Amino acid sequence: MPQQSQSKNLKSVAIDAHGRLDECLKKELRQLYEELATEQNTVTVHCHQCGACCNFKAFDHQLWATSLELDYLADTDGLKPVSINGVCPYMENNQCTARIGRTLGCRVFLCRQDALEMELLHEKYINKLRLLAEKYDIELEYNEFLASLQEL
Ligand code: SF4
Ligand code: SF4
Repeated sequence: MPQQSQSKNLKSVAIDAHGRLDECLKKELRQLYEELATEQNTVTVHCHQCGACCNFKAFDHQLWATSLELDYLADTDGLKPVSINGVCPYMENNQCTARIGRTLGCRVFLCRQDALEMELLHEKYINKLRLLAEKYDIELEYNEFLASLQEL
């Protein structure tokens, strides 16, 4: 059951009186992620969804995300408490439980040296996110994922 987004970091006109993300914005962001998924079907390198990189500490990996993505994640999948073990709080039984709201970085990160196609997609979709934020008058911040989750 999704919880409220509590978008205290999202300084925009895209928040309603109850602190929830604008429905049109959510729809556009959902479409953006769907568009990305379609493009990902055309690339030659793929993630096998083993979940290892979602254990940030053990994998020595940092995920970065925009404030808009975090608010969308909180809106769709609820906020989860961050533990000190360095594992993403949305990871349960080695499975991601945030398939709708997971961030762009979650979608495009690839643990391979030849991940250039994914890197290019990341760049392309970060730019699309920026345009979307501009459209809704959102001040976009880009921060480390776990630290940002703790502040929501
Ligand atoms: S990017 Fe690599 S480590 Fe991360 S889930 Fe995919 S295959 Fe596993
Ligand atoms: S939201 Fe899902 S994909 Fe992203 S880091 Fe957490 S468990 Fe991994």
